[in-house]
Amino acid sequence: MKRLFVYAGNHKYLTIASWVIAAISALVALMPFVFVWRLIREVLAVAPNFSAAENLAHNGWMAVLFAVLAILLNVGALMCSHLSAFRIASNIRMRAMHHIVTLPLGFMADFGTGKLRKIVNESSAATETYLAHQLPDRASAIATPVGIIVLLAIFDWRMGLLSLIPVVVGFLLMMAMVGPGMRHQMAQYQNALERMSNEAVEYVRGVPVVKTFGQSVFSFKRFKDSIDQYSKWVIAYTKQCRIQMVLYTVAINAVFSVLIAGALAFSSGGVTNEFLLNLLFYIIFTPVISVAMTKILYSSENAMVVEDAMDRIDSVMSIRPMQEPAKPVCPKDNSVELKKVCFRYPNTERDALHDVSMKVDGGKKIALVGPSGGGKTTLASLLARFWDVQSGSVRVGGVDVKDVPKETLMDTVSFVFQDDKLLKTSIFENVRMAKPGASRGEVLTALEKAQCADILEKLPDGIDTVVGANGVYLSGGEQQRIAIARVMLKNAPILILDEATAFADPDNESRVQAAFTELSKGKTVIMIAHRLSTVVHADEIFVIKDGEIAESGAFEALLEAGGLFAAMWKAYKRAAQWKVAKEGDDHAE
Ligand code: ADP
Repeated sequence: MKRLFVYAGNHKYLTIASWVIAAISALVALMPFVFVWRLIREVLAVAPNFSAAENLAHNGWMAVLFAVLAILLNVGALMCSHLSAFRIASNIRMRAMHHIVTLPLGFMADFGTGKLRKIVNESSAATETYLAHQLPDRASAIATPVGIIVLLAIFDWRMGLLSLIPVVVGFLLMMAMVGPGMRHQMAQYQNALERMSNEAVEYVRGVPVVKTFGQSVFSFKRFKDSIDQYSKWVIAYTKQCRIQMVLYTVAINAVFSVLIAGALAFSSGGVTNEFLLNLLFYIIFTPVISVAMTKILYSSENAMVVEDAMDRIDSVMSIRPMQEPAKPVCPKDNSVELKKVCFRYPNTERDALHDVSMKVDGGKKIALVGPSGGGKTTLASLLARFWDVQSGSVRVGGVDVKDVPKETLMDTVSFVFQDDKLLKTSIFENVRMAKPGASRGEVLTALEKAQCADILEKLPDGIDTVVGANGVYLSGGEQQRIAIARVMLKNAPILILDEATAFADPDNESRVQAAFTELSKGKTVIMIAHRLSTVVHADEIFVIKDGEIAESGAFEALLEAGGLFAAMWKAYKRAAQWKVAKEGDDHAE
């Protein structure tokens, strides 16, 4: 509760009020049993002359009155608990989201968006059910045995004690099932669930591959393994609880047998009317006990789920946010520089970049080339401060990116990735995101410059068409052009372009190239080039291999040097020729 109350603010008092009211409601709910018992007593006192019975209506109405009062109090308790539960869950979500936006951008990709979504959404939702329903239930479940103890004094104390036996046995068994040892297991359960959810997302993403290559679910070994692991856990857990659960259910429901056995033992010397009446009371009353105990059982189980949920929320909240500069400085120009940069991804053994230094003057266009996994993407992402470097410095406009305020950096550096996502909203809104105050005219101009005119033409509502709705889908190249329009509208002076590795059709390819050219005008451009044909006109080419700059220079100079780039260029040329020859062969056939 202490951990939950951190998010409660003043709603904490509502939660406490809900417990108090729920407990009172549970005690009031015992009163109808007392009045029904009195009613039976009146009837039995005058038997068989039933019409002589007195106070029947009074007792009956009092029973109804208390029953209604108990319900009303319970409704009141639930209202309080719901109000605070929803507020706390929403506060958890908001705080988590506020925290997430302060984290390094690279963290998102690394942590897994499926996992993050589950933590923010589901962990907060877990607290909601617990606070709204289970805690008031628990308060009333605790109040009920207290009420029983009070009633012991009024009725037969021996019967009272007997009806408490199943409570004690049930309680001990419950502790065995949901005690401290189970917490660890609950965490394992949540982990298994989380892994399965993550793998399911990966699987769905991979469906095109599965279909294309005629694979089955078994080809997604990790997904299948995660399901197997989950089912293994669930079966083991269920088996482990089987005996306790059976004993618990028997104990809780055996209250009548205990009472009857006790009654037989106590009445061996003869039965008095009063004894019979008291027995009757406990027989009417005891089912309440099993209901109350079962409520405690479920709330205890849920308490573990909530504790685990809070651990997960804390695991996100404890990730260190990106440090905002103490003394913010704005970039002075549009240059970019890396000085002796070493960078290693979290939880990895090797530097992804090692001792990298380079300088790009404002307005220059450079290309990063090199074998896959060399570190091109990593280098580019450091410029937008997706991660902070371990040593050395990354400078934009002559200022260390750590000293540039986040918003300013985002306004200075723009990037176009291969798989930029469009949101499920209109094309207009998708582009305007980059500059919220932009007019329709500005958005249209950006789209036009990004070669999107043909896309708008074929869409049913033009610029107002909602992407992803009613069968409106865009190809990869089309999506990238819209993403380029977005960056065009933002008009940041430094651009990072991740060129797509493959295009479905040449028309799309030439349009994307044209959009890139238009976008690059007058800007500093860092292009991650996957095809060497696009680097010929770059002011400088950096060849990145194994996290280091293997070579750098202009195209011609690198060719003359006869190093790695020259070899790559030769291989590229050969491949290009091979393609032409192959096509020629096909024609011949
Ligand atoms: P390139 O863009 O040249 O293909 P990357 O910059 O993507 O290369 O990768 C450089 C190295 O860093 C590779 O060894 C890759 O495995 C590793 N790497 C890339 N991204 C991550 C990440 N998020 N976590 C851990 N290692 C990563």
